[in-house]
Amino acid sequence: MRDRRAKIICTIGPAVDTSEALEGLIAAGMDVARLNFSHGEHPDHAHRLAMVRAAAVRQGRSVAILQDLCGPKIRTGTFEQSKPMVAMGDRVELIEGDHAAYPQIAIQEHGFAAALRPDDRVLIDDGRISLRVESSTHGRAKCVAEIAGELRDRVGVHLPARTVQTPSFTDKDKVDLEFGLAQGVDYVALSFVRAANDLKEVRAFCEARGKSVPIVSKIETPQAIEDLEAIVAESDGVMVARGDLGVEFPPEQVPVLQKRIIEVARRRRIPVIVATEMLQSMVTATRPTRAEASDVAHAVFDGADAVMLSAESATGKHPQLAVEMMSRIVATAEHSTYVGSDRAQSAARSSLAESIAFNAADIAEEVKAKAIVAFTASGLTSRLVSQARALVPIFAFSSNEVTCRRAALHWGVSAHQAPHVERSEDMVKFASAYLLERGLVSRGDLFVAVFGAPVGSGSGTNSITVRSVA
Ligand code: PGA
Ligand code: MN
Repeated sequence: MRDRRAKIICTIGPAVDTSEALEGLIAAGMDVARLNFSHGEHPDHAHRLAMVRAAAVRQGRSVAILQDLCGPKIRTGTFEQSKPMVAMGDRVELIEGDHAAYPQIAIQEHGFAAALRPDDRVLIDDGRISLRVESSTHGRAKCVAEIAGELRDRVGVHLPARTVQTPSFTDKDKVDLEFGLAQGVDYVALSFVRAANDLKEVRAFCEARGKSVPIVSKIETPQAIEDLEAIVAESDGVMVARGDLGVEFPPEQVPVLQKRIIEVARRRRIPVIVATEMLQSMVTATRPTRAEASDVAHAVFDGADAVMLSAESATGKHPQLAVEMMSRIVATAEHSTYVGSDRAQSAARSSLAESIAFNAADIAEEVKAKAIVAFTASGLTSRLVSQARALVPIFAFSSNEVTCRRAALHWGVSAHQAPHVERSEDMVKFASAYLLERGLVSRGDLFVAVFGAPVGSGSGTNSITVRSVA
């Protein structure tokens, strides 16, 4: 849907492993493709990345690639039996290792048992199974099952926060990021961020390789919630990672945390993504539940920049239908009277660029302009006009292909590649002709252009001009 403003991120997986399927997703509204490095090998990811890029070019659309690093996710090993049942009150022993016979469960984390104390809870498979620790020694822990369920191989394990010593940016993440940088991913997401320092580490890693990539912090641990302001200040984007957040916190906390994370990100003017289980039942069904439709709409009402599909698009039965449905829910919410500009309540502007972007949005409304045109080299102008939540369409123009792709995550922005020109007057003329040619504006329409002048001086966003399409 062309006039949708919030963006759609699709996790790419085996369900969409052909060029046709990916083109279908793009046609249905995918703005960002997420490669989940918790699964798959590098050649799979390289292949998918190349297919997404080619499909986007064929459709003439800017689509960003988001590399999602898996972080220190602790998993169980495999089981001797197939899917053993844990019954209430079962006595279970957790051991270090890769394989076990139930009632032993192997945990793939060296030294995990040392810091466990009696009455600690160990959650298995996103909390579907809960164990209470009775005693622990080095290397093993005796537990009692409190919530029963069926065990599967290699599912996630949540240990109490204080017992986890592994860094957020793991050795596997380093190898994966090295690969991602070489492939030219447009964003990188870091899982289980716990402190602002985690972000600094990733940034330094990129810098040491002469690269720079915007970093999205996945907020999914209690430590991240505690240190939210500092983490957001250090991030280029954030994700409300409700899957793990809903294991670390009770479910009733998740909606409140979602609002809080969105609020902090919006105040810091960075994109915020609401993720996980948004249309979960569409993994198998052709329609979402009413609660799921409402969830997507409320992410939009809350002010999210983007909503995300996980299993729905990666492994589900109806990836394209899920994107079409998500796009309709978002657009319908946006066209209701419950969404408006929240510029008036927004905090003080902290830079000239921000002031220019927000004022451009105000001017566009006051003069009834049909579009805002943002000329952007680094993507900053595009992001700030997006954060101003301009009510009219925002067109970002850049001669930089990477900037165009990154702008695909910016709320309300459609990004287009433009030739490099020397004078701002030429940029304005180019944009006007470009939009007119594609029927995006009509002769006589007013548009507001935002840019940094003189061109190429590195002076940053400092200019607003209002023109009419000639
Ligand atoms: P994941 O992150 O899918 O990588 O776990 C999202 C979440 O936890 O919600
Ligand atoms: Mn997660």
